[in-house]
Amino acid sequence: MTYRPTADHDELRAVVRELADERVAPRAAEIDASSEFPWDLKELLAKQDLMGIAFPTRFGGTELDDISQAIVVEEIARADATTSLIVIVQKLGALPIMIAGTEEQQARYLPRLSSGEWMAAFGLTEAGAGSDVAGIRMRARRDDDHYVINGSKRFITHGSIANLVTIIASTDPEAGGRKGLSAFIVETDSPGFSAPRLEHKMGIRGSPTAELHLDDVRVPVANRLGEEGEGFAIAMATLDRSRLSIAAQAVGIAQGALDFAVGYAAQREQFGERIADMQGMQFLLADMASGVEAARQLTYAAAAAVDANAPDLAYWTSSAKLIAGDMAMRVTTDAVQVLGGYGYVTEYPVERMMRDAKITQLYEGTQQVQRMIVARQLLRRAGVSRPSR
Ligand SMILES: Cc1cc2nc3c(=O)[nH]c(=O)nc-3n(C[C@H](O)[C@H](O)[C@H](O)COP(=O)(O)OP(=O)(O)OC[C@H]3O[C@@H](n4cnc5c(N)ncnc54)[C@H](O)[C@@H]3O)c2cc1C
Repeated sequence: MTYRPTADHDELRAVVRELADERVAPRAAEIDASSEFPWDLKELLAKQDLMGIAFPTRFGGTELDDISQAIVVEEIARADATTSLIVIVQKLGALPIMIAGTEEQQARYLPRLSSGEWMAAFGLTEAGAGSDVAGIRMRARRDDDHYVINGSKRFITHGSIANLVTIIASTDPEAGGRKGLSAFIVETDSPGFSAPRLEHKMGIRGSPTAELHLDDVRVPVANRLGEEGEGFAIAMATLDRSRLSIAAQAVGIAQGALDFAVGYAAQREQFGERIADMQGMQFLLADMASGVEAARQLTYAAAAAVDANAPDLAYWTSSAKLIAGDMAMRVTTDAVQVLGGYGYVTEYPVERMMRDAKITQLYEGTQQVQRMIVARQLLRRAGVSRPSR
C-alpha cells in the first residue's frame, strides 16, 4: 500500500501539536489523578472542529483523509491518551451509522455528532462476550414498530456520558452466535437505559468505562442499522476501520514518552557526564525512536488502505495496531528506564504514559485477536484458508 504524507499533513501536525502542547498536556496529570472526564477539553476539540474529522462534510464534518485523522489522534495522544479518546470514540460510535445507516439515520444523527453537541459510544462487549462476540446475550425482541432491548454491556468507553450508543444485540438467539446479531442506535435518555458503574482503571483514567444496563428499552425499528442478522458484519467493519485510531493513539503515546526521555537524558548527569552521551543510553533511545517511526509508517500505510477502502484493509489495520501497541508498551517502559527512579514516580509523565500504553494492546481486540485477523488474511491471500467456523 503506497502513501505519501504531504505538506498539508505537516501543517496539520504543527497546528494540532501546538494546541495539544498548550492546552492538553498541562491538564494530563490532573485528569489522570482525578479520573474525571475533561469536559473543558471536549469543548475545546469541538470548537476546533476536531470532533468531526471523520465525518462527511455534508453532515457538518471536515472529512479529513485517514492519514490526517491518524495525525490528529497521534498529536493529541502524545499529550494525553484520555483526551485522544474523545476523538477516537466519537468516530467509533458513529462508524456503524456511517457504514450501515440509511440517509435518514445519517441525517438525523451525524450532524449532532460531528459538531460535538452529542457524544457517541460503541456497545459490543459483554461480561461473557469479549474476544468472542458470538457470546452476546443482550436480546432485542421485535414488538410491532419497536424492539424491546434487555441485557448488559461491559467496558463501554464513554457509555455513561454519551447521548447515543450503537449497540449490538441478538434478534435471533435460535440462529446461534454471530448470525442472530443486529445493530441499533440507542439514545441514552431512553427509559430503562442506565450506566450504574464505572471501572477503576490502570490508565486512560479520565475516560469513563461504563457498565450499561438496558431494561425493557424500547427502540424504534427505524433505529435498526441494516437488516436483522447484519450486526456481526457491521461490528467487524467498524472495528476493522477504527483500529487505525488505536494504532495512531499508540504511536502518539510512545512519541510523547520518547520526547520526554530524550529531554531528560540531555540534562541528567551521572559519572560526571550527561546520560545522553553514554553509548548504552544512546542505543536505548535509538531503539525507541526507530520503533516509533516503524509503527508510524505502518499506521500511515494502513490509513491509506482504509482511505482506498482496500479489500484487505483489515490486514493493514490489525497489523498496524499489533505493531504499534506492542511498540508503545516497550517504548514507554524504556522511557521509565531512561528516567531511572524518577520514571517510576508521578512527578514525571512517563509512568502515566506506560500505564496508558497498556490499553492499546487490549481494546478493539487484544493483540492475540489482531494476530488471528492477520493470519486469516494471510491464508486467504495464499489461497489456503478454511471456511470460517
Ligand atoms: C478501558 C477499556 C475500554 C473498552 N472500550 C470498549 C468499548 O468502547 N466498546 C466495547 O464494545 N468494548 C470495549 N472494551 C472491551 C475490549 O474490547 C475487550 O476487553 C477486549 O476485546 C477483550 O475482551 P475480554 O476483556 O473479555 O478478554 P477475553 O476475550 O476474555 O480474553 C482473555 C485473554 O484470552 C485471549 N484470547 C481470547 N481468545 C483467544 C484466542 N482465540 N486465541 C488466543 N488467545 C485468545 C485474549 O487475547 C486475552 O489475552 C474496552 C475494554 C477496556 C479495558
